[in-house]
Amino acid sequence: MAERLKGKKAIITGASNGIGRASAILFAREGANLILADINEAGLGQVQEEINGMGGNVFIRKTDVSSEEEIKALINLGLEKFTDIDILVNNAGISGGLDVLEEQRLDEWQRIYEINVLGPVYATKHIIAHMKERRKGSIINIASVAGIMSGAGGNAYSASKAALINFTKTSACEVGSYNVRINAICPGLIETGMTQPFFEWARSAGKENQLGKYCELKRAAHPEEVAGAIVFLASDEASYITGQAIAVDGGITASMSVPGRKI
Ligand code: NAP
Repeated sequence: MAERLKGKKAIITGASNGIGRASAILFAREGANLILADINEAGLGQVQEEINGMGGNVFIRKTDVSSEEEIKALINLGLEKFTDIDILVNNAGISGGLDVLEEQRLDEWQRIYEINVLGPVYATKHIIAHMKERRKGSIINIASVAGIMSGAGGNAYSASKAALINFTKTSACEVGSYNVRINAICPGLIETGMTQPFFEWARSAGKENQLGKYCELKRAAHPEEVAGAIVFLASDEASYITGQAIAVDGGITASMSVPGRKI
């Protein structure tokens, strides 16, 4: 075991499923102590059990990231249990629908922004003074290729991820002189709870071989393939990387797009 995060203390949101869950398990394997949060408490319990079984050190807290009060309580739990926090992974997110423009609902836009944008904003706001004071810290925001280009999600989801990428850059520039690094990961098509209906539909329609066909590697990915990039950005190996939005997307953002909707 490499133990690239040995002794580090990390908070990961949206850790019950998908990319957050895979990251929690890889972080534990790499030696990190963990505070895991999710709205899905039963899922958190299962991840905790799995990590305890590996001999890891993990605490869980049910948290709705769209609530500033709940985020504050989550960060306080981290500081109470570990005294310091080295890493924050703002991963929790929701996707929303694919309605055409004239049928979009503002309450859906609002909910997506509350979780995908304000969640990371609250968490960054309440951890940043601690990281600046210690002159160390790594924050990783899980955005999406949808925040870079069209065709990978609905309007509200895509706009929320573009906002998150920009928040990543502006915040990174504000705190770089304190040796605090802030980066975003932009996943492509990953098989998780969020995309499960799409994968199931493709499989039942006999179109499995078309999943991920627009990217250069011609396949979708597993959440572990994103978790590896998150561990890298969290680790000291990435000590000179900040303010970046790194695509983990099989090359989809490297090529010219196909006009119109692709999903
Ligand atoms: P996932 O399997 O649905 O996992 C997301 C987790 O976040 C779920 O456990 C979910 O709980 C939880 N969650 C939802 N709303 C929450 C809230 N308000 N507070 C706290 N937790 C909440 O999805 P995923 O694909 O791993 O997504 C992780 C991140 O990657 C998201 O930010 C997503 O936008 C991004 N991403 C995913 C893909 C992809 O292809 N999968 C591509 C690009 C970017 P419930 O299940 O109970 O809702």
